[in-house]
Amino acid sequence: MVTPVQIERIETYPLLYQLPRPYGDANGYKKYRTCYLIRLVTTSGLDGWGEIIDWLPTLDKGFRERIIPFLLGKQATQRLHLVKTIKKWHRRAAAGVSMALTEIAAKQAGMSICDLWGGKLHDRIPVYASFQSYGEEDDWQKKSLALVEQAVAEGFCKLKVKIGGRTIKEDQQHIRSMQEMLQYQAQLALDANQSYDPAAVIEWECLFREWANLLWLEEPLPMDRTLGYKMLRNRLPIPLAGGENLQSASAFVPLVREEAIDILQPDTMHEDGIDGYRDTLQLARHFGLRVSPHAFDGALSRLYACFAQACLPPWSKMVGEEIEPVEWDVMENPFTKLFSFTPVQGTITIPEGVGIGIDVDTEMLEAYRWDGSTYR
Ligand code: MG
Repeated sequence: MVTPVQIERIETYPLLYQLPRPYGDANGYKKYRTCYLIRLVTTSGLDGWGEIIDWLPTLDKGFRERIIPFLLGKQATQRLHLVKTIKKWHRRAAAGVSMALTEIAAKQAGMSICDLWGGKLHDRIPVYASFQSYGEEDDWQKKSLALVEQAVAEGFCKLKVKIGGRTIKEDQQHIRSMQEMLQYQAQLALDANQSYDPAAVIEWECLFREWANLLWLEEPLPMDRTLGYKMLRNRLPIPLAGGENLQSASAFVPLVREEAIDILQPDTMHEDGIDGYRDTLQLARHFGLRVSPHAFDGALSRLYACFAQACLPPWSKMVGEEIEPVEWDVMENPFTKLFSFTPVQGTITIPEGVGIGIDVDTEMLEAYRWDGSTYR
């Protein structure tokens, strides 16, 4: 007889950090970084952490006034049912709750997250250093190159930088300078954040043919331009990647069905729960596609992306290329350090231990607590 486990208490940790020097991509500048962690505690004393990304004033109010009252007293083992209901109100909150309830299930079984999911197939996962290349200063290119140089010195051999936020000429100048600096010491992904049309992408075609170290071109077009992606995929000598804002496995189906993309990029916080996220990984594998998770908005969600990647069958039999890399935010953001989980030479080792296997930095939870005021 399994003992029922009820959700008894829920803690929330809204965190805010105003950036002294904004940085950005083709969508504009980030002036702050935020994090919203939740901790669910059961009547039996088990706990689980979840992470949600959204604007704190509305997220915090909705979570505390609607979602917490709904969850209190519910069976923690009813994850799929609870997440399905919360998804109707706030999809991203549902994703955070699903992480917390997954950890509680693992702890109840005395297992790690990966063991709960059937056991890991990979102990180590490659990560790539992810940059927001643009700054408000005139010398943004110089600063961008310095950040990239530092990451390579720290052992990252896969990098992602932004295009699409300046003229094509200026962006090409930036990437040319970077390639001269890198001298093929690292592989490079380019992310346009859905800012181009096909003609703009084709202006890069000669350079794509010249550079042998390109990992992928990310989101050159809006993600609903399936036939545009298909045309580019047939024409360009570089893999196409995308989908960080798609909300379910079914949203990836048009791209998969049309064979319009090479690499799916789901995000654990943007899909409908960690279970729905894993459905997308399986979708990719069923169709023989690669998956390189988007994980720019938080440390716990990134950890879950690594767990899911560790349990994913290989896409390749090539030694050293068995599993695709996970995104690693290397920009100024204190919240990437909330969970002590650090890459060495561009690789992370999956934590052992029950639940997520690592503790949150409780001092940081206090130091960066959002004071409730509006910010923009
Ligand atoms: Mg992107």
